[in-house]
Amino acid sequence: MSTTTTNEETVHYKGSCHCKKFEFEFDVPKITKAHSCNCSICHQKATVYHFMPLEKVKFTKSSFKEASAYQFGQKRYKHMFCPVCGCSPFGTDNDEKGGAINLRAVEGIKLKELEITEIDGASL
Ligand SMILES: [Zn+2]
Repeated sequence: MSTTTTNEETVHYKGSCHCKKFEFEFDVPKITKAHSCNCSICHQKATVYHFMPLEKVKFTKSSFKEASAYQFGQKRYKHMFCPVCGCSPFGTDNDEKGGAINLRAVEGIKLKELEITEIDGASL
């Protein structure tokens, strides 16, 4: 048995919604970049994304499937939110393969230190 090693050191991140119904953890190389999106819902919620499949996120409290999903337009994405506090710590695609973590819900993230690129979601 061999184990996969990488040269990149990973950082352990923890996130939650505001009421902590949802708590989760993930290990990725230090996050220095993020994405914002100019679609109508992301604009209104001011989400800042780190994209990663939700299956690689360890949910320590509640499963992401317990979050409410808001869909609109072509309904390609599930804009997920906590049914208790209304915060949106993560989202996923319709097939739940892709995913995005809202960095505003992650401890230790300083938004002003991130290089944020805007996605033109409004045109998709
Ligand atoms: Zn909550």
